[in-house]
Amino acid sequence: MKLLEDYIVNRGKVIDGDVLKVDMFLNHLIDVDLLNEMGKEFHRLFGNKKITKILTVEASGIGIACVVAQYFSVPVLFAKKGVHRNVGTDLYTADVFSFTKGVTTTIGVSKNYLKPEDHVLIIDDFLADGNASLGLISLIEQAGATLEGVGIAVEKGFQSGRGKLLAKGCDLKSLAVIKSMDGGRIVFADGEDS
Ligand code: 5GP
Repeated sequence: MKLLEDYIVNRGKVIDGDVLKVDMFLNHLIDVDLLNEMGKEFHRLFGNKKITKILTVEASGIGIACVVAQYFSVPVLFAKKGVHRNVGTDLYTADVFSFTKGVTTTIGVSKNYLKPEDHVLIIDDFLADGNASLGLISLIEQAGATLEGVGIAVEKGFQSGRGKLLAKGCDLKSLAVIKSMDGGRIVFADGEDS
């Protein structure tokens, strides 16, 4: 998606070699006009599917998911972080290793809000090594619901996430795929670069 690629090139910042900071438009200060265009694009990509729920993980996925959900007219369910596995039987949980924080957290959703009849579209801001998405897929599997697709804003194509999700048979679509960002120079898989 050219618009998102332009935002990344003009405003994003590469830190520590493999982390892209997008605080200034995507996950701290949020550009709602951009999110709206992303919502339209995700609807164009997945609108032919029967979706009953959008699933994401707190915190940075929530804003994007809410805007996307408006185009599908379905609710957003976000997995909460830091839940405890043994708080009872009313949660589906999964352990997720955080690429940016370097720690493992348990994420969870209430069993009341994810049901076998749900058809779920996962939306997240980044795909790196795929742990967040795999955790969300595990929640869907535990509920006996159907995964319809995974929609990612920014995929770092040089990490292992895509391979893991494709191996699970996911319909994965990313709005911007970064092929490399060596030396802070961002190169997109579709040829756009900085
Ligand atoms: P994964 O679980 O695929 O390894 O990483 C995805 C999660 O880590 C996303 O939910 C996102 O919050 C965070 N993340 C991974 N890479 C980056 C990055 O380069 N920049 C930012 N801002 N977040 C990232």
